[in-house]
Amino acid sequence: MTGVSFRERLADVRDRIERAAARSGRRGAAITLVAVSKTHPVERILEAAEAGIAVFGENYVQEAEEKVAALPGATWHLIGRLQANKAGKAAGLFSWIQTADSERILRALDRHAAERGRTLSVLLEVNLGGESQKAGAPPADVPALLSAASELTAVRVRGLMAIPPPFEDPEKVRPYFAALRELRDRLASPHGAGKGLTELSMGMSGDFEVAIEEGATMVRVGTALFGPREGGRR
Ligand SMILES: *Cc1c(COP(=O)(O)O)cnc(C)c1O
Repeated sequence: MTGVSFRERLADVRDRIERAAARSGRRGAAITLVAVSKTHPVERILEAAEAGIAVFGENYVQEAEEKVAALPGATWHLIGRLQANKAGKAAGLFSWIQTADSERILRALDRHAAERGRTLSVLLEVNLGGESQKAGAPPADVPALLSAASELTAVRVRGLMAIPPPFEDPEKVRPYFAALRELRDRLASPHGAGKGLTELSMGMSGDFEVAIEEGATMVRVGTALFGPREGGRR
């Protein structure tokens, strides 16, 4: 990856998004590219912004502070696990929280966002693989979370997010992406609890094209844009 400029990698990723979107009967413009900048320094983020990136994803509240301050005009998504004791800081830094997976977190975000006079866009993280050590609500719990969220004023649940188990072959991830879309479709049906669920955040560097084919509206891409992370951190 070294020697290839950010602009070249971005052009390649955008091209692949465009083609995958066409295969699902959509335009590339309908898909939000979230540039995952975790572990990369502020200079790389400014370079990415210069190249046209407007939406960034960060995993850690602490790490994001300096970056958001350096680029407050961008849209910042929290894509890493959120501890309740960081909800206040997160509500001040991010406009999207992609990893809400409990009523407790939803309520904490709502309270802190309301205190700041902000509205937060939130995705419910769903644990599709049934991996007990992983974050995310089991699919069966999502209706109850939606009904709890419907009483909140500063939190808008806009869709679902998932991090499927990793596979070398992206085709092996396809059933998980399809399952998230089917869950969303069921919830968004006239009798479902989630009429406003328009977003599906799924797909990373290794599998974003398959995710788009299965209906992703947001892809979270790090390595394919920024190159490998130091220490191989996930
Ligand atoms: C790190 C991370 C990504 C980006 O992963 P790449 O494989 O580098 O594209 C996407 N989503 C989440 C939740 C992550 O933690």
